[in-house]
Amino acid sequence: MSRLADVSHSQRKDPVITTTADDPIPFAQPDVGDAEADAVRDAIRAGWLTTGRITAEFEREFAEAVGAAHAVAVTSATAALHLALEAAGVGPGDEVLVPTWTFTASAEVVRYLGADPVMVDVDASTMALDLERAAKAVTDRTKAVVPVHFAGLPMDPAALSRFARDHGLQVVEDAAHAFPAGTDGRPVGGGDSAATAFSFYSTKTMTTGEGGMLTTNDDAIAARARIMRLHGIDRDVLDRYTRVGAKWQYDVVAPGYKYNLTDIASALGRVQLSRAPGMRQRREVIARRYTEAFADLPLQLPAGPADNVTHAWHLYSVRLRDAAIDRDEFVERMGRSGVATSVHFIPLHKMSYWRERFDLRDADFPVATESFARAVSLPISSSLTDAQVERVVSTVRDCLTTE
Ligand SMILES: *Cc1c(COP(=O)(O)O)cnc(C)c1O
Repeated sequence: MSRLADVSHSQRKDPVITTTADDPIPFAQPDVGDAEADAVRDAIRAGWLTTGRITAEFEREFAEAVGAAHAVAVTSATAALHLALEAAGVGPGDEVLVPTWTFTASAEVVRYLGADPVMVDVDASTMALDLERAAKAVTDRTKAVVPVHFAGLPMDPAALSRFARDHGLQVVEDAAHAFPAGTDGRPVGGGDSAATAFSFYSTKTMTTGEGGMLTTNDDAIAARARIMRLHGIDRDVLDRYTRVGAKWQYDVVAPGYKYNLTDIASALGRVQLSRAPGMRQRREVIARRYTEAFADLPLQLPAGPADNVTHAWHLYSVRLRDAAIDRDEFVERMGRSGVATSVHFIPLHKMSYWRERFDLRDADFPVATESFARAVSLPISSSLTDAQVERVVSTVRDCLTTE
């Protein structure tokens, strides 16, 4: 039986998912409890289920959380990226700059629109888009850039804006890792980019199982994304079906998509959103503990945030440095000791589709290529107990210090 399925029969309080001291530690585990389960049950009892009032509330609250004029709830960050690039006018023949150090979703959406992603190497410290290299990759076909706030560390918003302005590019931020995060008190998602995409996938910093959000301060982009989210229809379904005396007519103004988020998912999202600051704080505590505990190990630790920066700490990604064992052996040993790890990322230029389609070579991405061989991500979910964190710490030490 799934662990979530037994919620209604259980007297347990938060968390719904419990582990014992010897259980393997998963790489990522959603931080969900009774409050989320109750909200989902209420949403089902409310009888609407698909996109409706709960989703509208979720959008309002999320927009407020990031300080954006608009938030559009969708089925994934991938959908949000696709809608954002479409609304920003990316189309056939255009080029879009994308870091090679990311998940394939950041680039695949460019192909959906018949445009070409141009992969760019990353900064060796932050693992985010290297703006100097990006500048060299700009051509007269370049229309947009998709910066990724790797691990939840926000890129410098001023440098990003300047880069976009200098080259006349639209910015669509991939903030799948970066909620909540920000610089100088200004959250990622509330700035002057064309749009920002957030992910509520089950491993991300807040979750709706599957889900995502597009935020923007641009009225035209928000309006276009709302229409394209639901088949290119020019009117809201809730309004058509529930308002007494509402007109039945609607028009289709474009061949849109089916990307609307359900009220069931939004109910879960509203609870997660209210808990997001606390969950972020917990991940920060875990990150600090790792950074302190690993200072003497042969590891390159992740770039920490400057004082004016809030890091979402979605990932704690280290790189082995002069260790006696290689990354694959380290991953193997950690797994045998009951601690799951992951690798972020296998760079896009290593993936057969991207490599072959765009004739990409390792030599063009020296930082990502070299980092990939040494990178490994450790568990950092907010649901980890102190005992689990200490087990990760001692397991990492054991794996790196014993032959
Ligand atoms: C998870 C992730 C995505 C995709 O998110 P979905 O909500 O699963 O579509 C996009 N970009 C990055 C960098 C991610 O890590």
